[in-house]
Amino acid sequence: MEKVRVNQDACIGCGACTAIASEVFSFNDEGFAEANEDNNILDEMDNELKESVIDALEGCPTSAIEKINE
Ligand code: SF4
Repeated sequence: MEKVRVNQDACIGCGACTAIASEVFSFNDEGFAEANEDNNILDEMDNELKESVIDALEGCPTSAIEKINE
């Protein structure tokens, strides 16, 4: 399954992804973005949300959002 996650070492907490796809990305207590463990599987998202997540991935200024296969 293809999932998204946020590399905590790369995120600068700019808030772009949480603004674009708040169903998937939210801030943790450290002020960095995290992908929601219950809603991070790309193939289980509807197309609109999936496109937003891909936009967030491509738009992240530090390339902190990664796709992983698990
Ligand atoms: S867009 Fe990238 S740097 Fe900005 S909060 Fe999201 S993961 Fe972090």
